[in-house]
Amino acid sequence: MYNVAIVGAGPAGIFTALEIMKLRPQWKVVLVEKGPKIEKRKCLLREGYEKCPGCKKCGLLCGWGGAGAFSDGKLTLTPDVGGHLVDYMPRKKVEDLIAYTDSVYLDFGATDEVFGLNREAFADLERQATLAELKLVHSPVRHLGTERSLGVLKSMQDYLDKKITILNDVSATSLIVENEQVKGFLTSDNQQIRAEYVVIAPGREGADWLTKEFDKNKIGMVSNAVDVGVRVELPAPVFEPITEKLYESKLIYHSPSFGDEVRTFCMNPYGEVVAENYNGIATVNGHSYGEADKRTRNTNFALLVSEKFTEPFKEPIAYGQHIARLANMLAGGILVQRFGDLLDGRRSTPERIKASTLVPTLGCATPGDLSLVLPYRQMTSIIEMLYALDKIAPGTASRYTLLYGVEVKFYSARVKLTNDLETEGVKNLYTIGDGAGVTRGLIQASASGVHVARIICGK
Ligand SMILES: Cc1cc2nc3c(=O)[nH]c(=O)nc-3n(C[C@H](O)[C@H](O)[C@H](O)COP(=O)(O)OP(=O)(O)OC[C@H]3O[C@@H](n4cnc5c(N)ncnc54)[C@H](O)[C@@H]3O)c2cc1C
Repeated sequence: MYNVAIVGAGPAGIFTALEIMKLRPQWKVVLVEKGPKIEKRKCLLREGYEKCPGCKKCGLLCGWGGAGAFSDGKLTLTPDVGGHLVDYMPRKKVEDLIAYTDSVYLDFGATDEVFGLNREAFADLERQATLAELKLVHSPVRHLGTERSLGVLKSMQDYLDKKITILNDVSATSLIVENEQVKGFLTSDNQQIRAEYVVIAPGREGADWLTKEFDKNKIGMVSNAVDVGVRVELPAPVFEPITEKLYESKLIYHSPSFGDEVRTFCMNPYGEVVAENYNGIATVNGHSYGEADKRTRNTNFALLVSEKFTEPFKEPIAYGQHIARLANMLAGGILVQRFGDLLDGRRSTPERIKASTLVPTLGCATPGDLSLVLPYRQMTSIIEMLYALDKIAPGTASRYTLLYGVEVKFYSARVKLTNDLETEGVKNLYTIGDGAGVTRGLIQASASGVHVARIICGK
């Protein structure tokens, strides 16, 4: 019998455990993670495989550190980016939580430097963005880079290994609920984990499992907007006017044709585009290294179109999966197209990509035609956004700019939660991080863990 059982060793689950050990060091805590320890994690694509082999448990997403392990490690130090925590508590409380969470990252070895603090330095950029009808949301960012992220998460693993029970390569399969109160869960290796409190933090990778499990237990979900789009890759100098001032900027645009919100997301100067595998569905993402010798010549970022659907629609995750599957069907994985080819109404071919000035960093992507994948509405909004960005970063709408498809965020279904992040309907069951639809990034996912740990320890 444990005091607390946690599902998922991503930032949300790890920070839950760290904070509980700080406040209640005598408590018995178990953390169940479907992937391996951090030192055993590997993504075959990152290690030179030509094509993503579609591992049963994606090496990029599963294991100690979750999606955070090979992430770009950008800690966006504001409540405005990376989650919805302000929907559950006053803004000041979220700011304090973020500051505290950031200090824990520093204790475990994060870099000192924070980008984007000097507002004067980007006042001109803000002005240019306004003229291009773009809204610039600036956020102070601590950038760890992928190698430092791995180091910080390994230190957390070493620290917690001595204090709690960590079960790697074990999945939570179904919740045990008695009289509307959680009692624990069953696991893939036929264990019954009993605990007073259960915290579910399975990330986007486990969002589908969470949705089905919660549905079974009649825990309500509400639909967030569905975020679908592409990852854009261009020569780093094109975006330098922006990235040299603000490592991560969020630029928001409302497409003239549809009025839909399009935004930049997860910017990686001198980075690499990477493939992720969500239970057999390949999607794109990006990251960069902190070390100068590992930098590429390209910058990448996502352009996501937010679509709000109305009743009776209730399957945002399935919608995103459907679009991603179309790209996979046509390309056998990730599809890439030059912007010029998209505008000319023709597919990209290996020859056309070779004849470009830009070398794709995701070599395994298959040249093809995105207009056969993305709905007209989202495709049009993306094209209009690229032209708007071209006004502040000339060269963005170049015919050589690469668009990888698709990028989709499986955090579209949000669990109905109290302000304590406890599920409505089942007592002592908490759910946090990206999988619950509460957050969308490292710092807020981690902060959501700190929040529930404090709530549980205060009970
Ligand atoms: C390539 C890449 C780059 C990124 N770069 C950034 C960035 O620079 N800045 C930023 O803010 N965010 C970034 N992100 C996003 C960030 O990594 C996530 O927002 C964050 O990791 C979410 O934390 P989480 O704990 O909610 O979930 P996750 O990190 O996804 O962790 C969930 C864990 O739960 C495990 N799990 C799932 N289901 C089960 C189950 N049934 N039983 C047991 N275990 C289970 C999974 O294996 C996983 O380890 C990036 C993501 C990727 C993939």
